[in-house]
Amino acid sequence: MTPKIRKAVYPGTFDPCTKGHLDIIKRAAQQFDEVIVGVLRNSAKTPLFSTEERVNILKEVTKEIPNVEIRSFEGLTVSFVRACGAGVIIRGLRAVTDFEYELQMAQTNRILAPDIDTLFLTTSLEYAYLSSTTVREIAEFGHNVEQFVPPVVADLMSRKRSSRNEFQ
Ligand code: ADP
Repeated sequence: MTPKIRKAVYPGTFDPCTKGHLDIIKRAAQQFDEVIVGVLRNSAKTPLFSTEERVNILKEVTKEIPNVEIRSFEGLTVSFVRACGAGVIIRGLRAVTDFEYELQMAQTNRILAPDIDTLFLTTSLEYAYLSSTTVREIAEFGHNVEQFVPPVVADLMSRKRSSRNEFQ
C-alpha cells in the first residue's frame, strides 16, 4: 500500500506576506509532504496588492521550498481545502488576541467539515508583534519595512508608494 500524502492548506489574505507568514510556511513544510498556501480573493476588502500580485509574491519567496504550492481561492476555506485533497488547515497564532477569532473559525469549520482539522503553529517570538496591517501602515508613512517583510515585498511596497505619489 502506498503511504498517504500528508497535505495541509495555509489560508490567509497575505496583504502583504510578512516574515511571520514565511516562518509559518517553512515550519509547516517541515511537518507535511505538501503545503498549499491559499490566497483569499476577498471581494469585501480592498487589498493593497491584487490577488495576482499576492500569489506572485508568495511564489517568489517560497521558490526554494519544493513542497510548497501557491493558489488563490474564494468562498469557503473548507471547500478549498477539500478541493486540494487536504485534511488539515494551518493557522498561525501570535497572541491571545488572535485566539478568540481563530478558535471560533476552527470550530465553525469543524462543524462544516468534521473530516478537516485545524492545526495552530505558534509564532516564532521575533515575529509575534508582526501583522500585515502594521506593515502597510509603516510603509504608508514612507518608512522602510525590510525588517518585517522579505526584500521583494519591501521593494514592491516602496515602488507602489512612489508611483502613487507621482500621480498626486
Ligand atoms: P487572515 O485575513 O485570514 O487572518 P492573514 O494574512 O492576516 O489572513 O493571516 C493568515 C494567518 O497567518 C493567520 O492564521 C494569522 O494568525 C497568521 N499570521 C499572521 N501574521 C503572523 C505572524 N507574524 N506570525 C505567525 N502567524 C501569523
